[in-house]
Amino acid sequence: MAAPHSDQAVLTVDLGAIVANWRALGVQHGAPVAGVVKADAYGLGAAAVGRALGEAGCVHFFVAHLSEGLALRRAVGTGPMIAVLDGFLPGEDEGAALVPVLNSLGDVEAHATAARTAGRERPAILHIDTGMARLGLDAKDLAALAADHGRLTGIALRHVMTHLACADEPAHPMNEAQAARFAAACARLPKAPRSLANSSGLFLGPRFASELGRPGCALYGINPTPAAPNPMRQAVRLDVPVLQVRNIAAGESVGYGASWTAARPSRIATVALGYADGYLRSLSGRGYCAFGGTQLPLLGRVSMDLVTLDATDCPALRPGDRVTAIGGAGLTPDDLGARAGTIGYEILTGLGARYAREYIRG
Ligand SMILES: *Cc1c(COP(=O)(O)O)cnc(C)c1O
Repeated sequence: MAAPHSDQAVLTVDLGAIVANWRALGVQHGAPVAGVVKADAYGLGAAAVGRALGEAGCVHFFVAHLSEGLALRRAVGTGPMIAVLDGFLPGEDEGAALVPVLNSLGDVEAHATAARTAGRERPAILHIDTGMARLGLDAKDLAALAADHGRLTGIALRHVMTHLACADEPAHPMNEAQAARFAAACARLPKAPRSLANSSGLFLGPRFASELGRPGCALYGINPTPAAPNPMRQAVRLDVPVLQVRNIAAGESVGYGASWTAARPSRIATVALGYADGYLRSLSGRGYCAFGGTQLPLLGRVSMDLVTLDATDCPALRPGDRVTAIGGAGLTPDDLGARAGTIGYEILTGLGARYAREYIRG
């Protein structure tokens, strides 16, 4: 990596942790698991993550958009399966041999017709909706297909999949209901490998096992078992430079809206991080950055490019030092999500474009 600019935060992505998480999730599943690398591998970089997982033996990837699949194909080479959750029109993958997820009877019709016209089978994944009601064949589409398997002629069915709505709540009745609906749907379709669980689903027990798990968030260190300690390794760290340190008197205020007023003479550290970098404005007044073992509380508003910290009790902090905004106990993406009123997924996928990115094998 080129040296970061003096005002540039450094995002460190631990590819070793991601690969270790992928292996651990395969063991947890007792069956193969894919790498879900949509949204630029949840903000961490799909090309680097895809290459690392590919080298570790991952041969199934899922992306959301066609454009992500085309870019990933260039990164991982011709070997692995790359499935596109949104699907795409026949031929739209420009010869990149991507696998469309078929989300409706119309999708099935289009790809089957294209295959029969070309006289060559086309691989695809069939998505059955069992309760999410976003994408996938509904009950009517399923019934039509179950009544006439000939509609699939021309399609090489790689997997039949569904997606769980409540897997992070193990006691939620939706989980059992969806597993039962999925089993019933598969029994009415031509035999094909199944793909069921996302990260949290891999921890729900044997009824949620399938031939291919689809973990995303847990690869990147998000806790797939929110009610229990996090079994995954942390994969990201964000270190942000201090631009200035200033002293203010008791009674003076800091930042937009003058929302924070010093109760005592204070040292304010201004760091190069803001909501334009995905450091959410809703973190204003909540949480802290870390320097060595010291917590530097956020004060005032998070602005577009700057955050102000209370460094009164950290006399050692100097301009040019780097404080940790994400990473370590109390500062995981899950922790920041909880403080910001959102989830760790949104913290990761919002990670900014202005960071210097360093990939390590920790
Ligand atoms: C995003 C996604 C996943 C991965 O979910 P995680 O909760 O991040 O593990 C799996 N399957 C589908 C269909 C998805 O959209």
